[in-house]
Amino acid sequence: MDARLVLKGTGKQTTVIEIAPGVTVGDKQLLIVGGPCTVESREQMEEVSRVLRGSVSALRGGVFKPRTSPYAFQGMREEGVKLLSEISRESGIPVVTEVMSESHIEICDPVVDMLQIGSRNMQNFELLKAAGKAKKPVILKRGLAATIEEFIMAAEYIMSEGNHNVILCERGIRSFDSFTRNVLDLGAVVALKQLTHLPVIVDPSHAAGKRELVPDLALAAIACGADGVMIECHPVPEESVSDARQALSLQDMVELVKRMQPIAEARGRSIGSSKPAPKEFSITSTLAASMATREAKVSAA
Ligand code: PEP
Ligand code: MN
Repeated sequence: MDARLVLKGTGKQTTVIEIAPGVTVGDKQLLIVGGPCTVESREQMEEVSRVLRGSVSALRGGVFKPRTSPYAFQGMREEGVKLLSEISRESGIPVVTEVMSESHIEICDPVVDMLQIGSRNMQNFELLKAAGKAKKPVILKRGLAATIEEFIMAAEYIMSEGNHNVILCERGIRSFDSFTRNVLDLGAVVALKQLTHLPVIVDPSHAAGKRELVPDLALAAIACGADGVMIECHPVPEESVSDARQALSLQDMVELVKRMQPIAEARGRSIGSSKPAPKEFSITSTLAASMATREAKVSAA
């Protein structure tokens, strides 16, 4: 496989990525990302940031949602991007959100701290190339049926365009058993850590699909050497607009992070929580224009 930038080779053995001042991944500090599947309202995100502050290193929340049905809620979109960046500025906690197109990257890159490329887009090569030109680190999720080699080559696409800040995320692959939503492939985590110099994190939420399975899988991820976890949690999990069945409560998320501590230490790691710092924020002209176009379309409809 010609993954000259992703594979370890003879040079660099580990890549440390700075997400925000004091928040890194790939070094001793574990990256803990928590938040809802979907950004739903300001009240929801304020509560998420208030409770998770001090426990997580970054907040997640989808604003452009890849839904199986076109009739399902598609996310708060531009308004959600603005909300996420405000929440990040107010709380001092970095944020990550999924992008599905080049225009999403244009809107999100200036105002969020990390971009996420989801499973369904792992082999959207034009999107990968665009993410390679973005300024922010990219969390690249493994495709639902992607081999380890295909996953590595997808990361190579991003790096080959100049963005070397790629974080690989194992989130479960499809198999024959529908008891769990997907099968969490921790073997891939170990293999990717051995093969590549990039940070590797684990999303046990989309793998399990059931909240009661999430905590132990998260602990197992840390135990096998992952550089962090990304976990879905919500102020009222049962009422999440998407992926309700797998969402933890915010209190359970805080408890889980405490339980990670001894396992992290056993692996020579520490839990990185965000060190809130005031951030500069101004709505970019791209985001403003995009919001205006959207408002015009809504009022014309
Ligand atoms: C998500 O993180 O909300 C998501 C849609 O994940 P995935 O791409 O892994 O399904
Ligand atoms: Mn989800």
